[in-house]
Amino acid sequence: SNPTKARRIAVLGSTAVGKSSLVIQFCENHFVDSYYPTIENTFTKTIKYRGNEYTVEIMDTAGQDEYSILSSHHASSVHGFVLVYSIASRSSFDMLKIIRDKILDFTGLENVPCVIVGNKSDLNIQRQVSLEEGQALAQQWNCPTIETSAKHNENVAKIFDLLIATIEKAHNPPPEE
Ligand code: GDP
Repeated sequence: SNPTKARRIAVLGSTAVGKSSLVIQFCENHFVDSYYPTIENTFTKTIKYRGNEYTVEIMDTAGQDEYSILSSHHASSVHGFVLVYSIASRSSFDMLKIIRDKILDFTGLENVPCVIVGNKSDLNIQRQVSLEEGQALAQQWNCPTIETSAKHNENVAKIFDLLIATIEKAHNPPPEE
């Protein structure tokens, strides 16, 4: 059988878009209503994708500036990025462009494996970003996008399937440590 593959993922986005909630929902199967981490958190989960087993190490920026992940020694070993905005926050959507530019600056690459996540889909009544806008951005960046609800556990696991697929497609993962 195939050996388990290790993949390191970083979750980035504005404060309060639900990054920690998504990671905790995915790794621990529950929704936390208030979670105030003070340091960068790393979670690990084993998932199966297309018959292969992946040990996914997920780095949650934990309310810090994304520089804490990007400028750290980890940055070059991140295989893929989850870029999260809230569908109820226009500014968090705009922030993704700034974050992606920083990633490209730090890595020196022209494209990185990522998935765009519009979280808080349960807050449709407060929606500020349309599904079509998310899709247009994803098309521009040639990456998948998905709307999720960490609160209702909707499409949360799908984020990581999409990202693993995108990482594998890139055919050029950074060397293992
Ligand atoms: P982070 O700063 O991006 O890590 O955001 P958190 O995970 O701490 O979430 C910020 C706030 O949004 C918390 O009050 C969460 O309970 C709430 N939240 C997170 N995900 C969802 C969601 O899918 N729907 C709703 N309605 N609230 C959410």
